[in-house]
Amino acid sequence: PRLSLSTLADLPAAVARPAYDIAAAEVGVVHLGVGAFHRAHQAAYLDAILGRGHKGWAICGASLRSPDTSDALDPQDGLYTLAERSGAGDNLRVIGSLRRLLVAPRDPEALLAAMCDPRVRIVTLTVTEKGYCHDPASGTLDEAHPDIRADLASPQRPVSAPGYLVEALARRRAAGVAPFTVLTCDNLPANGKTVARVTARLAALRDDDLGRFVAGEVAFPSTMVDRIVPATTDDDRALVAAGLGLQDAWPVMAEPFMQWVVEDLFPLGRPPLEEVGVELVSDVEPFEHMKLRLLNGAHSTLAYLGYLAGHATIADTMAVPAFARLVARLQDEEVTPTLHLPAGVDVAAYKRALRERFANPALRHRTWQIAMDGSQKLPQRLVATARDRLAAGAPIPLLALGVAGWMRYVTGRDEQGNAIDVRDPLAARLKALADEAGPDATRLAPALLSVREVFADLGADPRFAGPVRDALARLMARGAAATVEEIAGG
Ligand code: NAD
Repeated sequence: PRLSLSTLADLPAAVARPAYDIAAAEVGVVHLGVGAFHRAHQAAYLDAILGRGHKGWAICGASLRSPDTSDALDPQDGLYTLAERSGAGDNLRVIGSLRRLLVAPRDPEALLAAMCDPRVRIVTLTVTEKGYCHDPASGTLDEAHPDIRADLASPQRPVSAPGYLVEALARRRAAGVAPFTVLTCDNLPANGKTVARVTARLAALRDDDLGRFVAGEVAFPSTMVDRIVPATTDDDRALVAAGLGLQDAWPVMAEPFMQWVVEDLFPLGRPPLEEVGVELVSDVEPFEHMKLRLLNGAHSTLAYLGYLAGHATIADTMAVPAFARLVARLQDEEVTPTLHLPAGVDVAAYKRALRERFANPALRHRTWQIAMDGSQKLPQRLVATARDRLAAGAPIPLLALGVAGWMRYVTGRDEQGNAIDVRDPLAARLKALADEAGPDATRLAPALLSVREVFADLGADPRFAGPVRDALARLMARGAAATVEEIAGG
């Protein structure tokens, strides 16, 4: 039997489940991109909100691409299991906040209608960095992006996330319904401002007046989201089924830790998030820099170098003392000096906790998964930090090593000569650049540094290019394991 409303009562007592009347919950949020992260983070917070009796904040989740999540969860009445994993075992909790599932390519009108419902006051998003169709280095709309061109050609039948936002906002405006608040939960720098810029630009390309409306009347609060959520595997499904005594086609796995810092900017109102542990602040940027640079910057560095050194997961990589030291030194020596810390944060404790989270052996977060879409991630995770360091006249050997790890990775060949399955919107171009340059770092580094979407002007700055080239030369000659040992070993 399958997890569903009708089997909920059969669950073992150890499995937590909604204590509220699921049938009475009403959709107040539309979410674009119902992937693993949303289901383990925002949906868990809103499940707790529903549990506190605020019944107007259930979620309608939409996929703009694959029907996979909807196909898995529709037969389960939207219910799924969140497994919180640690050395102490798994804590299972059934989440009930996802009340409706839509697949945009199957029925775009249904999604637009949901977004235009006056009871919907917030549209949240986790469509990955590339889902905003922007140039990651400048944070502006990529007007040549095929999805954006399609959205300009047929605005009433959108394809991209910005396209759906603009069309729904235009329809609400025409109907005299106040605009929803747009709350992106993706790891973009200044994420609210970036999504505002991209969305307003797309609106303006449709019509100047609509562009002014989106720029002037729509709220795009920034947010910092944190919880490590690896992709679910078949082993995870089997473990969860054993714990439930029921099949769940798509549970999600997460670490116990979760954090959500939100700019308090919701003209139509919001759920009382402070009741469930969300931090509402006026300025998210100090939290965002701390998290993107200390967590995600270290994560990407571990992902590229760890993958190249033959490690499948972040925990396996962290189990090598030289890698653990590399992370600590990167954080202490090159990242922390660039941060303006939020008041009251103990950064030493934050970094210690991060390293413990990375080492959690129960999570099995694949280096390959984090390595994905590097061209969209490097600017805010490593390059921006390096830019701040250089502006302060400070050295960047460890940031350069992380960037060099990415370069070796995107050549598409590992240290044994086997193919790497590089997933990145720029993968083909990166591979062509690497193939043409060949394996000599004095040619390979400049070739990849010319990719302006990632490095902008820094690619041509010798203070950046020099250390990156030197680190890449070492990586090509000695391999990742030996290089990390030499640099951070001792
Ligand atoms: P996932 O693969 O489970 O889900 C990704 C979702 O994005 C899917 O719904 C997919 O259909 C959609 N998507 C992908 N490309 C798209 C595009 N071009 N346009 C529209 N939709 C698109 O991944 P996830 O673990 O849910 O992570 C999604 C995002 O959440 C990350 O990219 C990141 O910005 C953020 N995030 C993830 C974590 C984590 O640990 N997984 C932590 C913090 C933040």
